Amino acid sequence: MQLAQAAPLNVLAMGTFDQLPVNVHCVTKGQKFSAVFCDETTSLGFEELVRLRGDAAHDLFPIYWFGEGAPPYVDASYPDSRPQSLHEATRDAYAKIARIENLGRKQVEEDRELLNLLGYLVSRKCEAVPRWAPNNKRLVEYTELRPEFSSRSLLMQLYRKGLLERDFWRKTHQCSKCNSSRLNVAEHCPDCKSTDLVEMDIVHHFSCGHQGPQDAFQLSAGGRMICPSCEQNLDHFGVDYDKPGRVQVCQNCRAVTENPITIFECLDCATLTLSDEAIQRDWYRFRLSAAGQEAAMLGQIPVTSLENAFGGFEPSKDYATFTALLDNGLNTAQRYDRPFSVAVMRLASDENDRDGPNVAFGTAMRKTLVKLLREILRDSDFLYAAGNQIVFVFPETDAEELQSIVDRIEARLLTDVTERPDYSFEDWSGRTFRDILQGVRVVR
Ligand SMILES: [Zn+2]
Ligand SMILES: [Zn+2]
Ligand SMILES: [Zn+2]
Repeated sequence: MQLAQAAPLNVLAMGTFDQLPVNVHCVTKGQKFSAVFCDETTSLGFEELVRLRGDAAHDLFPIYWFGEGAPPYVDASYPDSRPQSLHEATRDAYAKIARIENLGRKQVEEDRELLNLLGYLVSRKCEAVPRWAPNNKRLVEYTELRPEFSSRSLLMQLYRKGLLERDFWRKTHQCSKCNSSRLNVAEHCPDCKSTDLVEMDIVHHFSCGHQGPQDAFQLSAGGRMICPSCEQNLDHFGVDYDKPGRVQVCQNCRAVTENPITIFECLDCATLTLSDEAIQRDWYRFRLSAAGQEAAMLGQIPVTSLENAFGGFEPSKDYATFTALLDNGLNTAQRYDRPFSVAVMRLASDENDRDGPNVAFGTAMRKTLVKLLREILRDSDFLYAAGNQIVFVFPETDAEELQSIVDRIEARLLTDVTERPDYSFEDWSGRTFRDILQGVRVVR
């Protein structure tokens, strides 16, 4: 039999198991293990799972549950711990561990959680599926992902790097005070904020022109409405009166409104948030992309491209806008004899680009750079980022001021990161429009 020939499976048994299969080697806490067997007395939360990593052969160790109350994220659960169940779990564990061992080993500690999540999706052949979770303030959870990986922020990071694909699922709204999404939605009176609103017809009396909510028209003995303004009977619909619309009448303050305000009331902290001021959050179902599969097998998260790192950063322009602004800026500077500076920053992002002891300009440094540029750049400055090159344009800036900007960037890069990042600056200020574009196109 195939199983008997395989190396023994080191299992951390949490709970009581009488008859483990012969190829299962039971270990106790503190010893190295490859898989975990739990009985129904086990409690296995986020912290315990992270603590177990210390002795696990791999962060992605599979977990099996025997008995009632299995959490939704275990690899498999069985109603009992009879030999047949234990045997099936063991067989599944061998298969999962083989897939886990096939994954690339992480190269950088910083990528650990991202790679774990990708590796989980690969080794479990699953997707990240959002589900309603009323017990969670966010109202949504990826329940089938292990708690360590069930993070919207990790999923979104992987998506932005092109390592996951996504389908829209739902939109939730958040309380403006405590961010809870457990909200009751109701229409409120714009005057007194009461929710005690009653919808009713507006009655329009043709002969006197009065119109108002129907409950203001009293009924005659014959059951006809009496106009509150002129006290005539309203006999025939379409002849004496009509009903041009409906309104909400506040039962608390009697205010009449066509546009009650929609308000979310927080079930957690009772704060009221106007519906159009509530922060929205979009939830997606995620699955691996081909690039994500590859990253998991290589054990390497690709460095964020400059284009992505600068995405949404206002001074960063697309190529067409950049060339138009540059052309315009150079012409103005020439015509009015104003100072104008252009500088290029080149980042070395991998082994091939580098010489010397400096470290590659990785994802974290790119984020740091964008953060400090937010503080340093002025409204009129703009840039074009492509490949590993950023072209900065500083209108109304002479050589001395340019140097002080470059110095500030350098000073901040050296204090914000522990190791010296590898990059270089070059002054392109004397160049013509054509020469600058040529330099841009080399890396484009
Ligand atoms: Zn709240
Ligand atoms: Zn009111
Ligand atoms: Zn009337």
